[in-house]
Amino acid sequence: MMPEFTEELIDRLTRYCAIDSQSDASSPSSPSTAIQLDMQRLLVEELTGIGAQDVTLTDYGTVLATIPGTDPGPTIGFLAHVDTAPQFNATGVKPRVIRGYNGGAITYPDAPDLSLTPEDFPYLGEKLGHDIITASGTTLLGADDKAGVAILMTAARHMLMNPDHPRPTLRLAFTPDEEIGRGVDPRLPEDLGADFAYTFDGGRVGEVEYETFSADLALVTITGVSIHPGFATGKLVSAIQLAAKLLQTLPQATMTPDTTSGRDGFIHATDMEGDAAEMRLTFILRDFERDGLAAKGALLEQLCAAIAASEPRATITCQITPQYRNMRYWLEDDMTPVTLAHDAARALGIEPVSIPIRGGTDGSRLTEMGVPCPNLFTGMQNIHGPLEWISAQDMARATEFCLSLTRQALK
Ligand SMILES: [Zn+2]
Repeated sequence: MMPEFTEELIDRLTRYCAIDSQSDASSPSSPSTAIQLDMQRLLVEELTGIGAQDVTLTDYGTVLATIPGTDPGPTIGFLAHVDTAPQFNATGVKPRVIRGYNGGAITYPDAPDLSLTPEDFPYLGEKLGHDIITASGTTLLGADDKAGVAILMTAARHMLMNPDHPRPTLRLAFTPDEEIGRGVDPRLPEDLGADFAYTFDGGRVGEVEYETFSADLALVTITGVSIHPGFATGKLVSAIQLAAKLLQTLPQATMTPDTTSGRDGFIHATDMEGDAAEMRLTFILRDFERDGLAAKGALLEQLCAAIAASEPRATITCQITPQYRNMRYWLEDDMTPVTLAHDAARALGIEPVSIPIRGGTDGSRLTEMGVPCPNLFTGMQNIHGPLEWISAQDMARATEFCLSLTRQALK
């Protein structure tokens, strides 16, 4: 363990978390919120300060930089996202450090009813003596993914101060809007210029993730027949009733997010709006396999067709668009980035754990665009809510892991 990392990580994480950089899915601009640029400008300044090269803030809001290599080898990209999740209050984050965690319940100054206990969260029970960072009870912390940012900045500073630390050329990318699925601009793969890359956006120590969901979005539009209800006998066709019928016909005891786990996918209605004349329903379709995803789309289409057939005066359309794909499809052709991460973890005495993520990452899109990009642990826990926490010692392990990877890449 390198204790000097711990203090630098605590300093960086608490400073970064105090900066509000929440993204906003409803905003059409890029980045979605201007406040994310507050983080980006700070990173430009700090990267320049530690002597990184080619420091750039792109017009799509990503900060890029180079750590020059000491030896020839593959160019490796390292990514973290600067936005925090829109799902919970992220304004006025007051990070605090609980030194030498004693194993008891952690309470919150701004929310007396809230408590974080090792009974509810057994991973916390493994962190006796660690320095635990949390928010104050009314906001998320934003370790997702300021922890990734802090880890990469600390590793970068260490390498730039130690020109002998063996490494190939490294490229850093700090992206906005990951939480709203818009973190990877089409120009990023070329601007990054890496042979492969890693996101530091994972949870517990040891996580090396290279499987994500494959994801489609489905928009169902139901158009009924609108007429004054007083003259409606035998004429009115209610889009609301047909929408209810569709939802009732879809699987409910299976194939939903709350009834599935592990490798099983789902169909999930995320939004519904409209009126008796027209209803618009949004579904997300998720599966780890192409066949399974296609089958879910086909099922939804069939049910729409069956309901349309039962009411020929109504029109029902079902439009399915791809969102992202399981990164395993590309990685299984060349497992180098995964093998390297596994070797780098074992070199530190960490047993790597690779379980499929029931979601997507910036790495899913990047992999699809030709830059294989597994996701690595940072230590973050209970993300997107007030109980979010992280151990500074876990972050120090992730920093060592990053350094181990760069060393291992030359072998
Ligand atoms: Zn994240």
